[in-house]
Amino acid sequence: MSTHHTPERSAHLSEPHCIFCKIVQGQIPSKKVYEDDELLAFHDINPWAPIHFLIIPKTHIASMAQLTPVHEGVMGRIMVKAGELALKAGALPYPEGGFRVVVNTGRHGGQEVHHVHVHVLAGERPWQKI
Ligand code: AMP
Ligand code: ZN
Repeated sequence: MSTHHTPERSAHLSEPHCIFCKIVQGQIPSKKVYEDDELLAFHDINPWAPIHFLIIPKTHIASMAQLTPVHEGVMGRIMVKAGELALKAGALPYPEGGFRVVVNTGRHGGQEVHHVHVHVLAGERPWQKI
């Protein structure tokens, strides 16, 4: 049974042309890092760093610009999961190691996939980007 009953679970769940919704539904394969009833984490197909995965809400939200108070629960859970999953993926602990989270939003923010996602980057530098 779910322990995370939040309003967004009953809203518009997916967009037919969204690549990340297709990953959630298993129509496009992914290398999963973590999954529960409302979150999915999977390795980025084009990593910028030795450890690079994405965490997404399973429900379709186009970007961080669309977030409202109903999303506080799921987005908060993503932030809490980020560090836990980074360590499990091999990141060294804070403060010597650590990780970076990035949420690109809109064209000027460099967003390419319009389903909100948190990049989690870690591992020895240099990295390919930032
Ligand atoms: P953004 O520029 O923040 O929208 O980032 C989108 C990210 O999604 C990029 O880092 C891509 O490499 C990644 N990506 C795109 N398609 C896939 C896929 N099928 N599986 C995993 N990662 C993907
Ligand atoms: Zn989507």
